[in-house]
Amino acid sequence: MRMLVVEDELKLASFVRQALEEAGHQVDVAYDGEVGLGMARAGAYDVLILDHMLPGRTGRDICESLRADGNSVPILMVTARDTVQDKVAGLDAGADDYLTKPFSLEELQARLRSLMRRSSHREGRTLQVEDLLLDTETRHGRRGSRTIELTAREYSLLHFMMKHAYEPVTRAMISEEVWGFDFDTNTNVVDVYINYLRNKVDRGADKKLIHTIRNVGYQLG
Ligand code: CA
Repeated sequence: MRMLVVEDELKLASFVRQALEEAGHQVDVAYDGEVGLGMARAGAYDVLILDHMLPGRTGRDICESLRADGNSVPILMVTARDTVQDKVAGLDAGADDYLTKPFSLEELQARLRSLMRRSSHREGRTLQVEDLLLDTETRHGRRGSRTIELTAREYSLLHFMMKHAYEPVTRAMISEEVWGFDFDTNTNVVDVYINYLRNKVDRGADKKLIHTIRNVGYQLG
């Protein structure tokens, strides 16, 4: 598994890296919050181990930024502080679990295993709605036997629509989730991208999956 450790205590970072590498994982380390956030955004990690108190940016800040990007990588937050408020704040920021320093390697590894189990349960590699499949690793779609190539933005849009299948989603929800902000109401960029997806997903199919819901927005399935 590919792991990113963001930890500014050099000894602890190298200790954790060594243990995880011995357990067969591929481990990158960042010693600074800003660098860690950049690596987390760029790299396809299976899990992040994130210290809270860091130079550059706090762990909580990194968590919030990644979640705001729509990045759902499992995050184990590590901190020296051990109050209920700290835990709640970390979890509210989007961390999946919480580990208090000092911790044993056995505990770290047990937490990571449990995190991986939950995340593969929560979101498998493939999303499916009827005969439409979306592979979240290759980022390719498939409708029946036809492969669907997607641009990055089309993938994000389809991913969002599939996670909310069978429920109407508004243009505001889409623009916030997929673009990260609200468009002016007079721009039609969401409609334009929905049309791109329609061409790729529903073209030639007997059953249309992308529906316009009048006065609301769109619905998949
Ligand atoms: Ca620290």
